[in-house]
Amino acid sequence: MQTSAGTLHVVATPIGNLADMSPRALDTLRAVDAICAEDTRHTRHLLAHFGIERPLLAVHEHNEDEQATRLVARLLAGDSLALVSDAGTPLVSDPGYRLVRAARAAGIRVSPVPGPSALVAALSAAGLPSDRFVFEGFLPAKTGARREHLAQLAGEPRTLIFYESSHRIVESLADLRAVFGDARRAVLARELTKLFETVLDGSLADLHAAVEADANQRKGEFVLVVEGVGEDADARVAQGRLLYAKLAAHLPPSTAAKVAADISGAPRKSLYGG
Ligand code: SAM
Repeated sequence: MQTSAGTLHVVATPIGNLADMSPRALDTLRAVDAICAEDTRHTRHLLAHFGIERPLLAVHEHNEDEQATRLVARLLAGDSLALVSDAGTPLVSDPGYRLVRAARAAGIRVSPVPGPSALVAALSAAGLPSDRFVFEGFLPAKTGARREHLAQLAGEPRTLIFYESSHRIVESLADLRAVFGDARRAVLARELTKLFETVLDGSLADLHAAVEADANQRKGEFVLVVEGVGEDADARVAQGRLLYAKLAAHLPPSTAAKVAADISGAPRKSLYGG
């Protein structure tokens, strides 16, 4: 690494409550030569709130590759830069991965300033197994692709975490119910750290019904935390039968049974009875 090169600081910002901005995040944003932001207008408001005036550069999914080349040149020339996204931790369902990869490839020091992220905030309040978990980000937007994707996750034993928007929360809960079964336990974390924060828990059927029944529960930003499929044999068979029933509508029975057995871990013969 060149000793004269600058540092790329990856800085987490609040997911709603501005009091979650860390002192180190503020110090870093004040000290850098420029701040790379997903949406410069959004970040300008955040900086104005804290009385910070620094040049802003737009780095979003449509220009990240070309910007990365330019920004790495600046870093190599000695400038220090910060990378922020609209909310939470950059790179987590947000731009930044290509810039960080390019900076690391050029030998630039990349230093995180950790802070809020909706996925960890939701997991910390969910009360579902948290020693191992899978972050799935956003589900596909269309029902067919979403159900197909969920079918591949139906046998996952680890806790699953999804991001969801108000436009699709009802449909995604309906598809989760259809593919994972009504009884699977889950937690729906909405508007975390904000005025209307709610964390609902129950079965997927409970959560779907609660969101359908109350328009307020469909507003805002969501993290959905879903318990993994049970490790016990009964749960594997139940999961396998559910998968078999879904797949048999589209595939020959023997293929459906093989795929359902592979995904669920249940013996193939146990799947025909249910
Ligand atoms: N980088 C962010 C992070 O670290 O959490 C995530 C950015 S992603 C584009 C935005 C999604 O994160 C939202 O659609 C929602 O699913 C989730 N999210 C962000 N803020 C949230 C909040 N305050 N409460 C619940 N979910 C939130």
